[in-house]
Amino acid sequence: THSPRILDGIAIAAGIKAEVAEQVRALAPEGITPGLAVILVGEVPASQIYVRSKVKTCGELGIYSEMLTPPETITTEELLDLIAGLNARQDIDGILIQLPLPAHVDTRRLLEAVDPAKDVDGFHPINAGRLLAEGYSGSATSKSGKLALAPCTPAGIMEILRRSEIPIAGKSAVVLGRSDIVGKPAASMLINASATVTVCHSHTADLARHTREADILVAAIGRPGFVTPEMIKPGATLIDVGINRVTDASEVARFFPNDEARAALFAKRGSTVVGDIHPAAFALSGAYTPVPGGVGALTIAMLMQNTVTAAKARRGKK
Ligand code: NDP
Repeated sequence: THSPRILDGIAIAAGIKAEVAEQVRALAPEGITPGLAVILVGEVPASQIYVRSKVKTCGELGIYSEMLTPPETITTEELLDLIAGLNARQDIDGILIQLPLPAHVDTRRLLEAVDPAKDVDGFHPINAGRLLAEGYSGSATSKSGKLALAPCTPAGIMEILRRSEIPIAGKSAVVLGRSDIVGKPAASMLINASATVTVCHSHTADLARHTREADILVAAIGRPGFVTPEMIKPGATLIDVGINRVTDASEVARFFPNDEARAALFAKRGSTVVGDIHPAAFALSGAYTPVPGGVGALTIAMLMQNTVTAAKARRGKK
């Protein structure tokens, strides 16, 4: 019987983190410690978990980190002042604004206020523009050699593909989702890596017609188990970005009918995480990223790499 290759995001992320730690060690003799500032507004439980895990990983890799936790009621103007202060600081190389922000805050204005050289999330229009105009595909520098900070989740997807030696050039890639943080930059990076790319979204007619052509399918829509077996080309590489929490026992049984380990974990925790791709589709794939333990594991590793890349670039180092 056919058994697909599991693309182990945790192992790939561990490799990248080890490389980042090595780069941090190499900077130490010059008195350089890369520094990351994370702004976490209010008390969004999911954001608190993400931020804690980013700060913890900084500690493990020798990166200085600082958490700023203004209250929910902070205004856009006050946040702009906070960002201006971080932009001016020599010891801070990366500035990350944890999203989503409260509805009264002008997110776009804040993202544009971050110094592009410190924009470790890659959301500033300068970095988004460089991705399009200068053609980098996830690595730190563009063709012109300028610093290019790429959004962490799509950059992580590219690292999974590259480090797993999945061919990209000449292949047909389909991206489900067109968000600024995942779908669009992932599509740009795949184009830059010479795939032929189709982007699908909520207005796409006959979506399965497109997905069935994909050698590489990237699903980033936020719908549990949306991609079903009949929607894929057998043998395709499936990259599942979706993180969907499922709390209904019958749903869990539907997604994972024979998975005792998953059922046991669900019984213990009362919830489990399902990607945008139905587990039954994984079985037909050539290779796939599991959820959890796939793409999600890469995002923080790429953030760490971007922070060190920014620290080096700000001091004129390669
Ligand atoms: P958004 O909600 O910003 O975007 C979702 C995209 O999917 C939109 O482009 C939307 O289309 C499209 N879409 C939604 N429903 C359908 C549908 N039924 N058919 C076709 N297209 C559809 O989500 P994000 O990009 O931020 O995140 C996507 C998923 O990835 C989420 O599950 C999120 O939790 C996860 N994620 C994981 C990360 C990680 O691994 N670290 C990081 C970021 C996200 P339209 O534009 O037309 O509305």
